[in-house]
Amino acid sequence: MTADFDRLHSIFSDHRRFVITSHVNPDADAIGSEVALALYLKGKGKEVRIINQSITPDHLLFLTELFPVHTYNSDMDRHILDADCFCVVDTNSPKRFSAMAATVARSTAVKVCIDHHLEQEPFADLYVIDTDVPATSELLYRIFAAGTPSLITTPVATALYAGIMTDTGSFKFPKTDAETHLITAELLKRGADPYAVYQQIYESGEINKLHLLGKALERIEVHHRGRVATMTIPRSVFTETNTGEADVDNLTQYVLSIRNVVVGLVFIEQPDGVKVSLRSKGEIDINSIAKQFGGGGHRNASGARLKDITLADAVSALLTSVKDIV
Ligand code: 5GP
Ligand code: MN
Repeated sequence: MTADFDRLHSIFSDHRRFVITSHVNPDADAIGSEVALALYLKGKGKEVRIINQSITPDHLLFLTELFPVHTYNSDMDRHILDADCFCVVDTNSPKRFSAMAATVARSTAVKVCIDHHLEQEPFADLYVIDTDVPATSELLYRIFAAGTPSLITTPVATALYAGIMTDTGSFKFPKTDAETHLITAELLKRGADPYAVYQQIYESGEINKLHLLGKALERIEVHHRGRVATMTIPRSVFTETNTGEADVDNLTQYVLSIRNVVVGLVFIEQPDGVKVSLRSKGEIDINSIAKQFGGGGHRNASGARLKDITLADAVSALLTSVKDIV
């Protein structure tokens, strides 16, 4: 990893125009990582632009006040093609920034990928991937600390803190360790305000989001001797509550909260198919199931998008697949 860090820092030094992106439907680790990296590179005198496939959800807009985040359209291709370094954070799969993937493939920029997911896909010149860290933001802290630690300013610390807080489920998911807490302490010393970040992310929602949650909770069912719980969200629930997919946040925690449940599946109907969030407890490898459906992620938390399938058929296919692992 040290050698990778050295190569990454040389790439940072040797290039001037950076474009940073992350995955579709970005979460706080995606946007926190992008913003922190952008500020760090700007501190080094670089020209930096963050371009995402999706819009930024409302609860993360405060991060875009630290550094602007643009939503991709084809007018931005020139920025992607002008860049001499293209950085992808918090995903290693071009499918997850597919709207601009064709332009990225045409670009001659050096491509780097900084991430914590399993099974990298071939597109980058340098991968700095640590699948043991709970958040890409934690990995970036280590990268910055090994580079120019003075550039971990209050805005950088705030963005990294947001990523770590959310990707660890507020410091409780299995990959949270002493190092995570030590790094978090360092971020607080550098000015990250935990309550302010908590308020922005978890205390700034609209009532509609709770109505959506209420309807979603009523749709939880258990299967396979109580070992698997599912939650299904048809489009009609979004219409009834005047919400959208950006308002779906952390629903997996509820399906996993049931005693004896070891696999939780949340299905969200899409215009062209179904998005499924897969979660497992302990040694159960849910990533292997996500992969069967073209998705991926981590051992205990993965996702997949199934095209041209009904909600009922997606539920039935996933339930058949997980039967043997529970
Ligand atoms: P979530 O269910 O919260 O969307 O995602 C859980 C984990 O799986 C995240 O780490 C996310 O990056 C990954 N993930 C979600 N959807 C996909 C997907 O369609 N493909 C891949 N490769 N990973 C995904
Ligand atoms: Mn992440």
